Amino acid sequence: MVSFTIPPDIREDRRKVSEFMKEHVYPNEAALTREDDASEALMKELQAKVKAIGMWAPFIGPEAGGSGRGFLPYAYINEIIGRSPFAQRVFGCQAPDTGNAEILLLYGTPEQKQRWLMPLVAGEMRSFFSMTEPEVSGADPTGLQARAVRDGDDWVINGHKWFSSSALESNFGIVMANADPEAQPHRRFSMIIVPTETPGVDIARAVPVMGHTGRGWTTHCEIYYRDVRVPVTNTLGNVGDGFVIAQKRLGPGRIHHCMRWLGQMQRAFEMMCSYALKRHAFGGPLADKQTVQNWIADSVAEIQAARLLTLHAAHKIDEGLDPRVEISIIKFFGAKVLHDVIDRAIQVHGALGVTEDTPLSSMYRNARGARILDGPDEVHRFVVARRVLRVFREGGVWEFE
Ligand SMILES: Cc1cc2nc3c(=O)[nH]c(=O)nc-3n(C[C@H](O)[C@H](O)[C@H](O)COP(=O)(O)OP(=O)(O)OC[C@H]3O[C@@H](n4cnc5c(N)ncnc54)[C@H](O)[C@@H]3O)c2cc1C
Repeated sequence: MVSFTIPPDIREDRRKVSEFMKEHVYPNEAALTREDDASEALMKELQAKVKAIGMWAPFIGPEAGGSGRGFLPYAYINEIIGRSPFAQRVFGCQAPDTGNAEILLLYGTPEQKQRWLMPLVAGEMRSFFSMTEPEVSGADPTGLQARAVRDGDDWVINGHKWFSSSALESNFGIVMANADPEAQPHRRFSMIIVPTETPGVDIARAVPVMGHTGRGWTTHCEIYYRDVRVPVTNTLGNVGDGFVIAQKRLGPGRIHHCMRWLGQMQRAFEMMCSYALKRHAFGGPLADKQTVQNWIADSVAEIQAARLLTLHAAHKIDEGLDPRVEISIIKFFGAKVLHDVIDRAIQVHGALGVTEDTPLSSMYRNARGARILDGPDEVHRFVVARRVLRVFREGGVWEFE
């Protein structure tokens, strides 16, 4: 069972990360928000500092060049890194590179690991994951239309994708395409590594999301693949393994998101409490109004619940137990808590809450997307209910453990 005591070595890592955040990340957030050449240079400077304190890439183990020691230790550290949207990149543990690195480690050939995984984890490359298509439902990816056709020793890929996050200025993508239309629906798709500079890869635009277009890592791109030719040796795993690998990728990827969200919700919560104490209306601080107190009480309870659910899922992964239900629970529950806590914090801040003068508005944009990305809330509820009902259908009861 998960221990509620944080082990001393992880406590020490948390202290190191917290100090780094206070000294180097929060004071530079305004500069990093500008997303210009100067902010990219600053990002590189901060990344070098993280490497110097031995906290680089804590999501993955030393065999891939990271400093990770398992999911649970990472959950405790990522909760602090997640407080700032920029810190994931500063610490070398940003989506979608983390998920891509994990599947390259699990399924990559020695050559793929050398060429793509090691530079990715080292922060010398960036990547994207290209699955969702505008024309068909992303929640039900059996209908994806992108095709990969074998031609000698090459794949020739044609397709239209969007929401390929971070594709702009990246080095390679992992593209999901139908390589065998005659196979069973779940065996039709393959994941293929495509260098971004390959002829025929056309990044048509960074899709603006709630008013934000971004640059490089912060973009969500629409991409056309037109007769894109890559060697068959760029296939990740076996032909037809696309869905199996996607599950492997999205499982840990989802929990990485949930850990970061804990940091975001805690930061929004702290801002809400501090502001409620200092802002006065109708003869006293907002903190004295019962509605605000209810928001604070609900938030503290929901954040702690999301936290314990996340730690429990991380523990199950570390123990090699099946974490499918736990991951789906924290995906929909965590995203909702994130959204609601930030929403309340904005409300307490009044007009200030919707300006760019605090991080709350950009946090809110990300929180809204969180309820859709990596599978909409509704699909995760459906996964949980289906699994629970199966137990009852077979004459059992759902055991809470
Ligand atoms: C910020 C952001 C970043 C993203 N990054 C990436 C990325 O890097 N790579 C990538 O490939 N994709 C990415 N995506 C896409 C994301 O994975 C898809 O948006 C998601 O899978 C949903 O697919 P869809 O948008 O096609 O919605 P649809 O599948 O069309 O679903 C629309 C709505 O229908 C409802 N719905 C669907 N199924 C059910 C059901 N079974 N029961 C009840 N209701 C249901 C839900 O409310 C859902 O929101 C990103 C999305 C966002 C918002």
